[in-house]
Amino acid sequence: MLGWFNWFRDRGAVKMREEEESLWRLALQAVPILQGLSDAEQMQLMLLGQLLHKRKTLTQIGVDLSERQQAVLMLQAALPILHLGLDWYRGFHEIIIIPEPVTRRQEVQDEFGLVSEVEDENAGESWPQGPLVLAWSELQQDGDWDGFNLVIHELVHKLDMLGGEADGAPPLPGQMSRPLWHQVFQAAFDELCQQLDRDEVTAIDPYAAEHPAEFFAVSCECFFTDPLRLRSVYPEVYRQLSLLFGQDPASRFPPTRLLAGEGDSRLL
Ligand SMILES: [Zn+2]
Repeated sequence: MLGWFNWFRDRGAVKMREEEESLWRLALQAVPILQGLSDAEQMQLMLLGQLLHKRKTLTQIGVDLSERQQAVLMLQAALPILHLGLDWYRGFHEIIIIPEPVTRRQEVQDEFGLVSEVEDENAGESWPQGPLVLAWSELQQDGDWDGFNLVIHELVHKLDMLGGEADGAPPLPGQMSRPLWHQVFQAAFDELCQQLDRDEVTAIDPYAAEHPAEFFAVSCECFFTDPLRLRSVYPEVYRQLSLLFGQDPASRFPPTRLLAGEGDSRLL
């Protein structure tokens, strides 16, 4: 209920002018994963996106996003907190957009003592108490029903960090069970790691096996952008995320995409 309280309080703080509404509505219509929301949810998302835009600093380095592109970004950023409220994003104040992913070179030593240089490409970063850093070249690919969404990935890391260290365990609404959350996510994480050990192809991005925090972030990406897949492969994870976010994205997945052969029919 806290989320709803915040929502009504936030709503009172913002009145959307007509011309603003048409800009935000055009932005919303450009994002496939936002199309199945009810009219009330779309209005709620637009107001939340606008609040995010007003209350967080958007710093652009080497890029110049149009008003509509900024709205598209903020709407996707607001999706996870649609029924939670803006207070769940209290852990950061700034979003920094850079043109391309940052590449870092570092030396690693293998088990035989051989040192080699590896490149690590980072499309987004989310540090405790720090800003979100997002690469525009990657952000431009966000919004479709394809299992990937950089904005959602990095923002749910921020939700995770509200509970302290990023460990895949964000604060939970009162009616949820923390032991059950741990049990469900640990079992799914272990299963994914075992699949990789056996060199099997995984149903979700294998990057999720890097750390429980990454498993949570990748699961959330899949929850919002490839929900039938997540619900089929990890039904209990889907259920826990559905309880956390108060959303059921599988019910929004467009039937036309299934007819077109997108989404695996076995995953229904
Ligand atoms: Zn991550």
